Amino acid sequence: MARRKKIYEGKAKILYEGTEPGTIVQYFKDDATAFNAEKKDVIDGKGVLNNRLSEYFMTGLTQIGVPNHFIRRLNMREQLVRNCEIVPLEVIVRNYAAGTMSKRLGIAEGTQLPRPIVEYCYKDDSLGDPLVTEEHIAAFGWASQQDMDDILSLALRVNDFMSGVMLAVGIRLVDFKIEIGRVFDGDYQRLIVADEISPDSCRLWDIETGQKLDKDVFRRDLGNLTDAYSEVARRLGVLPNSNVTKPTLIN
Ligand code: 5GP
Repeated sequence: MARRKKIYEGKAKILYEGTEPGTIVQYFKDDATAFNAEKKDVIDGKGVLNNRLSEYFMTGLTQIGVPNHFIRRLNMREQLVRNCEIVPLEVIVRNYAAGTMSKRLGIAEGTQLPRPIVEYCYKDDSLGDPLVTEEHIAAFGWASQQDMDDILSLALRVNDFMSGVMLAVGIRLVDFKIEIGRVFDGDYQRLIVADEISPDSCRLWDIETGQKLDKDVFRRDLGNLTDAYSEVARRLGVLPNSNVTKPTLIN
């Protein structure tokens, strides 16, 4: 059997050469890391859940016309996605103060922000993904002004979609991070949502109890991460509506 070509291995995913031209296979690992990989563990079932949840969110985005890299799920841990050139920015949208914003600005976690706030971090693990401004982005040529307009619009559309989807199942979307890819359609280039959207890259709090259902459970040692992600999946109907402790997939 021919061995497929590994293109890249990150902290939570492995990318392999795709089965069709212009595609990539995205494999979701069970590895969890936090604080720039200072804290590490293997969480049984996390990769399976994130593969399903990212499929769910990306498919919904496609349905409302937000371009993204998702093509189809291949199996429990893998999905076929469009190959794109990743813009070296982490695009963060915040609806409520939490995490680094609370630390940096001294705003209590959970404070509602006057409007969604979009932040950009330069993607470089060796620097700890530092916060940058549009001035840095333009001056260093990471993205053009037109790109920045498109990125802002994509980020806000993802925020509206994700906030609504989560609200419908009693979850508050506190903040999230997305990555953006550049693709070429003939002579034209456009920007699409890439990477993943999952509880690894969002803050999700139960609206009633404030219970954390995201990667902060791992970062802050608040309990079992798979249980938290399974709860999100169960509420969204991605997992059967039973007392699942392990991810059991419907079809
Ligand atoms: P903060 O800046 O408060 O640490 O993170 C803001 C939001 O972006 C959180 O939802 C967090 O999960 C997400 N985020 C920030 N940096 C990363 C990252 O390097 N990887 C992932 N998966 N999510 C991130």
